Amino acid sequence: MQPKEPKNFIEKLIEEDLASGRYTRVHTRFPPEPNGYLHIGHAKAIVLNFSIAEKYGGLCNLRMDDTNPLTEKQEYVDAAIRDVRWLGYDWGDRLYYASDYFEKLYEFAKELIKKGLAYVDDLSPEEIRQYRGTLTEPGRESPYRNRSVEENLELFERMKNGEFEEGQKVLRAKIDMASPNLNMRDPVIYRIIKASHYRTGDRWCIYPTYDFAHPLSDAIEGITHSLCTLEFEDHRPLYEWFIERLGPTKPRQIEFARLNITYMVLSKRKLTRLVEEGHVSGWDDPRMPTLAGLRRRGYTPEAIRNFCQMIGVSKAQSLVDIELLEHCLREDLNRRAPRRMAVLRPLRVVIDNLPEGYIEEVELENNPEDPEAGKRKVPFTRELYIDRDDFMEEPPPKFYRLAPGREVRLKGAYIVRCERIEKDPQTGEIKTIHCRYDPDSRSGTSTRKTKATIHWISVSHSIEAEVRLYERLFREPNPEECEDFIECLNPNSLEVLRGCRVEPSLADAGVGDVFQFLRVGYFCVDPDSKRGMPVFNRAVTLKDEWAKIRQKIRL
Ligand code: ATP
Ligand code: MG
Repeated sequence: MQPKEPKNFIEKLIEEDLASGRYTRVHTRFPPEPNGYLHIGHAKAIVLNFSIAEKYGGLCNLRMDDTNPLTEKQEYVDAAIRDVRWLGYDWGDRLYYASDYFEKLYEFAKELIKKGLAYVDDLSPEEIRQYRGTLTEPGRESPYRNRSVEENLELFERMKNGEFEEGQKVLRAKIDMASPNLNMRDPVIYRIIKASHYRTGDRWCIYPTYDFAHPLSDAIEGITHSLCTLEFEDHRPLYEWFIERLGPTKPRQIEFARLNITYMVLSKRKLTRLVEEGHVSGWDDPRMPTLAGLRRRGYTPEAIRNFCQMIGVSKAQSLVDIELLEHCLREDLNRRAPRRMAVLRPLRVVIDNLPEGYIEEVELENNPEDPEAGKRKVPFTRELYIDRDDFMEEPPPKFYRLAPGREVRLKGAYIVRCERIEKDPQTGEIKTIHCRYDPDSRSGTSTRKTKATIHWISVSHSIEAEVRLYERLFREPNPEECEDFIECLNPNSLEVLRGCRVEPSLADAGVGDVFQFLRVGYFCVDPDSKRGMPVFNRAVTLKDEWAKIRQKIRL
């Protein structure tokens, strides 16, 4: 029997709603505002909304919450569509835009006026703020609060017709200036913004606020469960106030905690700053926590979905270790990434007891985790490259790799012994290591052991590559807490290595393909690659820090 999956608190509430008959179906939505690229925090909301719909045989819409003409762009809509699809979700033909509801929302606002529940206010934005009061003091009523329905309808229409300037008039809901909840003190529901909207152009010069547009958009679409983050908890009474008075259907808002991850910032405003000030190369810079950046870095949809399932949902604010995200990626790539040999910092090795032009093909497994992956032949020749880090002229006690007089196994091939070093007479830099190989030590036929096995590549059968190594974008675990998060940027978050040597088959690798470079890490082919000159992004190293952390906190 399958063990029952534990239910999170949202699923419990939904099941209560279904049991009580409050709803007979489940319909959710993911509502991004197209004012930036989606990030890993959004992934949490995407996975939650789509998987809940799937679990209860319901539907999930994708809706652009595009009610602010000042910050929204088609580029962001296109990116959001691409990213949600890439994560593996399908909204069928239900891609909606809040801006498509402008007409309906305008009618809703008029209905509210007719019910005596909204009024046009002439107070300035500054006065409105002053009149609002504080948490300890009630607000004061605007002198324009008791205009007649007729006057309000006329003024609202004139607002729509562009007869007033920005800030001169707003439409407010008439609720309760003494409410302990500040959101209920006659919130603004329409303001004048004389700016072109990326979809509706100059058709409108009044725009609904989020608090008005969001619940009614949900109600128009027949959403049953409107899942949002905790900062909207205090807005729920307002959400319900609009829904009760105007909603063609009655959605229920449920809040959950935002995702925060160490060494990352997850706010579009801050990410926009990183892009605009040039701290990163763009929204898809592989150091960015955006889905576009993570994809370019080598993250898979499976790894991200799995991460989102693992962190779960709750009402408690939390900061998730970045190591858990990296762990999820390693788990996925370990299963699927083909293995290749790549030497990032090449050091030339000559095997003196092999003849010039010698070629022997050795067989290496493509992926020991995947029996289907098969094997490949790799040429073993007289001149090889090994990684500079795998040789030390004066090795410290625990260094077991190559050193003068020492032996090491070349992965899948032979044991070699370092006989002498050739240095540049001017700089003293090591140029070439001369070795002898043991012809009886061939891998698979000999049982002779060495303390270390290193990777290598044939000089004449390798191609050049560029490799980009990434470290965390921030120095501080919680950059959100820095006075200015820009100050916390890690100046060493990118290191570019040129002249790396990789297996020739990698010349044809497609953009986005991910490989494990033996002993080094997982690497993803970057779109900057040129024919015959691949560029690789390090997705993640091989060392799983999460395993250590998990032990410490005994998960
Ligand atoms: P940002 O601060 O990054 O602009 P936002 O909440 O304003 O975030 P929206 O585009 O309005 O961004 O968000 C769309 C949906 O994604 C909302 O339902 C929001 O609650 C959710 N969401 C955004 N950030 C996170 C996060 N860090 N964790 C979980 N859900 C998030
Ligand atoms: Mg928002």
